[in-house]
Amino acid sequence: MPRPLSATIHLDSMQYNLMRARACAPGAKIWAVVKANAYGHGLERGLRGFAEADGLALIETDNAVRLRELGWTRPILLLEGIFDGSDVELLAEHGFDSTVHCIEQVKMLEYTRLAGPIDVHLKMNTGMNRLGFRPEEYAAAHARLRAIPAIRNITLMTHFANADELDNPRLSVREQVRRFQLGAAGLAGERSLSNSGGVLQQAALIDALSNDWVRPGIMLYGGTPGQQTAAGYKLLPTMTLASEIIGLQQLQADDTVGYGSSFTASGPMLVGVVACGYADGYPRHAPHGTPLLVDGMRTSLVGRVSMDMMTVDLTHIANARVGSKVVLWGDGLPIDEVADAAGTIGYELMCALAPRVRVREGALGQAA
Ligand SMILES: *Cc1c(COP(=O)(O)O)cnc(C)c1O
Repeated sequence: MPRPLSATIHLDSMQYNLMRARACAPGAKIWAVVKANAYGHGLERGLRGFAEADGLALIETDNAVRLRELGWTRPILLLEGIFDGSDVELLAEHGFDSTVHCIEQVKMLEYTRLAGPIDVHLKMNTGMNRLGFRPEEYAAAHARLRAIPAIRNITLMTHFANADELDNPRLSVREQVRRFQLGAAGLAGERSLSNSGGVLQQAALIDALSNDWVRPGIMLYGGTPGQQTAAGYKLLPTMTLASEIIGLQQLQADDTVGYGSSFTASGPMLVGVVACGYADGYPRHAPHGTPLLVDGMRTSLVGRVSMDMMTVDLTHIANARVGSKVVLWGDGLPIDEVADAAGTIGYELMCALAPRVRVREGALGQAA
């Protein structure tokens, strides 16, 4: 028997969440974001789960090539663009769309003779202050790209810092849109602004957001970027991490559990040992009280998460035994809830799924 820990990927939920993104941003074309191994779900599963997307967007050039090898013929967008002049040839050879966010990338495109026409996304820094040209530099960068004969379409792009909250006082979506419109004034071309947060807020921002392309990531994987709950947006979990109880301990008052003896029983208590630890990608810093499901019932973590195991309170779980099914996140327990308890975000939990975890596919409801 293999160790009872596995991650089940729900391709049906991925398809469903993509439909939800379409419903939120009607008329926009969708780049399904599959960077970081499709947020830990596996690149090839990303391709199949989002087969109906208008394009796939990612960071890694080698994985972009892999998508072509896997048979993806629609557009592929490199979200950070190219990293070196030698990458320019890849763009024409595989028909990749490239983000252009800095003058060095413009120069790479100017210096290299391209074999065929390519499309680019020109990125504006509207306040995120990570990648992109400032609004006042934007038109000049656009003109330089326009002068390169091999460049066909230039999509105007920016990225939101706080799309999960409508009116962040430090930098609101509206303010970023205002700067974008200023910098892009008079420039022709399609527009791409929204990540998941923007897509989910689309209804509230309909006046401000005119996206030809949207770039949802986390929402397609059943997570949300901020305070909103996935269920509130009718998003379904796409990854269920499940294991089993492999041992039981009956504690008495004042007994402690695990490394550092950081948890002390206040009275008689049944503790179960779950085959899942931080070497599987479960966050080591998850505190006592982090939720999980045992035989479908909600309970919580006690003691420190160790490399291969964690301990959970079974006192109130009737008939709990060695072999009881445990859901760490996913079906019945939104990943955002676990992430929140552990002081992180669902993105990080998905992406951190460790290579030793068996990954399989199954419909939602058939994981544990
Ligand atoms: C990762 C990424 C996205 C997707 O972000 P989510 O918050 O997961 O929706 C969109 N655009 C760019 C440029 C990205 O790097």
